[in-house]
Amino acid sequence: MKITQAFRFEAAHLLPNVPEKHRCRRLHGHSYRVELRLEGEVDPLTGFVVDFFEIEAAFGPLLERLDHFYLNDIEGLENPTAENIAIWIFDRVRPKLPQLASVIVFETPDCWAEYDGG
Ligand SMILES: [Zn+2]
Repeated sequence: MKITQAFRFEAAHLLPNVPEKHRCRRLHGHSYRVELRLEGEVDPLTGFVVDFFEIEAAFGPLLERLDHFYLNDIEGLENPTAENIAIWIFDRVRPKLPQLASVIVFETPDCWAEYDGG
């Protein structure tokens, strides 16, 4: 069974390693959407793979560190591309939720990165 829970946050960033004239080199913000995708067996008693409240509890503290912050200031996000944000989230949520299969970070509705730990 696969389940997904989505979250949103607003944050500012710039990409320090792109060429001078690249627009992402300038300070700007995004309305990010994050999807946490989990896979596992449905517990016959609860009917859940993982209770959505448990997912929210696992991700909540990270969401608080991201929402309305300048991402470049966060340790591990000095180069906050969608790819690196997905890795950053995956590595911190997976120990709490072993069923976590992948993290998708949407920078815009049309651009996203998905990380599955590989
Ligand atoms: Zn950007």
